[in-house]
Amino acid sequence: MFYVAKDGHRIPVLTSRAFIESESADRSAIVCIAKDITERIQAEQDLCQVNADLTKTNARLQQTQEQLIQSAKLASLGEMAAGIAHELNQPLHIIGMSAEMGINYLQIEKYDKIEPKLEKIGQQVKRATAIINHLRTFGREASDHEQSNHDVSHIIEDSFILFTEQFRVHGIEVRKQLGTNIPQVSCNPIQLEQVLSNLLINAKDAMENSAEKIITVSTRVEEKNVIIEIQDTGIGMDKAVQKKIFEPFFTTKEVGRGTGLGLSISYGIINDHGGTLQYESEPGKGTLFRIQLPVTEEKSE
Ligand code: ADP
Repeated sequence: MFYVAKDGHRIPVLTSRAFIESESADRSAIVCIAKDITERIQAEQDLCQVNADLTKTNARLQQTQEQLIQSAKLASLGEMAAGIAHELNQPLHIIGMSAEMGINYLQIEKYDKIEPKLEKIGQQVKRATAIINHLRTFGREASDHEQSNHDVSHIIEDSFILFTEQFRVHGIEVRKQLGTNIPQVSCNPIQLEQVLSNLLINAKDAMENSAEKIITVSTRVEEKNVIIEIQDTGIGMDKAVQKKIFEPFFTTKEVGRGTGLGLSISYGIINDHGGTLQYESEPGKGTLFRIQLPVTEEKSE
């Protein structure tokens, strides 16, 4: 409701009325109070504006976070480049050798031996295609909103597509102890793979000078959580390093090998999934990283 002032401008008011009845009916009255609420309305409008600004800032922050995650992933892909070259070199090498042998068999007319070589070529082309397709998916920008139910074993297996050959070349033994009947978790598979890749790169780097190089990956269920553990037999971390590992840009690696973003981004990703990222480490013995993710609640009818 508005009152109009003498100069014609409108004043927003809050009115209340009360009827006063007196003993004698002819003395009844109505009391009307009007409160000027100009300031309150202005404050409400200011609050709406602050809210709108906050929503915009939040959206921008979310976008920046997604860009940071993507940049860190591209940086780790850069760190993995030499390894990925190994992964692709292996099938290409087998294709080259099989083709050469096929030609030899053709020349000496041993036709029955050609077919297995062609089959081998076909298999290795499939393997190289799988690696390239996987690289494409992994490199894709993964929006936070793309969460759905997934089997973590598949995501773990996918993470190894880009590491199998380089681990073999570096003499790293991989032990997988993946539990059966592990329930699904609601997650963004590309982001979870980004975390696993970071942990695998770190495990590989930590074991560079170790006599025994073993990465053990295990999964299990604990209460309503799926636990993924990645353990290495690397140099481990002393207390001073442990204190800083989740800080952005903290790295003990030489320039060009580490950005110091892997663990801080991984921590953020797991946190956004409602989980936790913890570690246990002993200098000279190795490190274990533990991802805990809540099991997807089954919807009751
Ligand atoms: P970056 O790998 O680029 O250095 P991260 O955030 O992934 O960045 O790791 C930060 C630091 O934490 C590493 O530089 C290293 O000192 C330490 N670290 C991480 N994982 C391990 C591990 N498995 N073993 C020993 N040290 C590790």
